[in-house]
Amino acid sequence: MVSNPTTVNYRLFASGYCTAHDWIVDPKNGRGKARFYAVWLLIEHPRHGLYVFDTGYATRFLEATRHFPDKFYGWATPAFIKNEETALAQLAQAGIKPSDLSGMIISHFHADHVAGMLDFPKIPVICHAAAMEQVLSVKGFGAVRHGILKALIPSDLRERARVITEGSVVSEKALMRNPDEPSSLQFQDLFGDGSVELAYLPGHARGQLGIRIHTADHTVFFATDAAWRKSTWEAGILPNPTVKLFFDDWAAYKATYLALLNYLQTFPTHRLLFTHCPETLTHIPSINP
Ligand SMILES: [Zn+2]
Repeated sequence: MVSNPTTVNYRLFASGYCTAHDWIVDPKNGRGKARFYAVWLLIEHPRHGLYVFDTGYATRFLEATRHFPDKFYGWATPAFIKNEETALAQLAQAGIKPSDLSGMIISHFHADHVAGMLDFPKIPVICHAAAMEQVLSVKGFGAVRHGILKALIPSDLRERARVITEGSVVSEKALMRNPDEPSSLQFQDLFGDGSVELAYLPGHARGQLGIRIHTADHTVFFATDAAWRKSTWEAGILPNPTVKLFFDDWAAYKATYLALLNYLQTFPTHRLLFTHCPETLTHIPSINP
């Protein structure tokens, strides 16, 4: 950690949700259907400008899943999204145009995280190298089974990507690994000033990233889909094993799951959030689940 890090601001948004059986999240106590809101962040750095972290759903998801094989995706996780709820529309409401963004950071390429990508052309895309290579190589049903809809992915992704690989750097000084990190998770400093770090959260999807942000008054760790619900995760309840069908690496998922429990013991004051957790919604005033 840099001794006096720059502080940044962030805001949480949700763009649509999908539904799935609750027993997928909680095989022990799950009943009925659960909503998985697609939460994303707007990050404001005093020198590097505005970044979005993920994009949530956009209405093009509904068009993209009209035909086979992508239709399977819509069947597995029926999605609900209105035009005024997209990242594009909500940023416009806040007076922010796509061209005002310095870049976007993508945690992983599952459709509920990237359906808005095409609304933000030209800007750099920060993502894990392994995630990008997978999304560019999979096709047809092979893509769908990894949670990827090719119609949502920008055709110039490779040209715009600033990829992260373990031990590499995004820009000159950025992304040095912090050797003092006491948990088994790995972080890389995004801007080289200690304010925003990307975390490796392998298992759920290839090259999945989370983000840790140090604001003036607290630290938030947005651990994306490393767990779906904080209460089941804290109780040590793993998702239903059927998720192995589309998860990237079940053993890595379990290791990440445990590393996060260790993390929260080490940093009990950090605000640990997950993309689809109902508790995360309490930080989004406009949502009324
Ligand atoms: Zn996911």
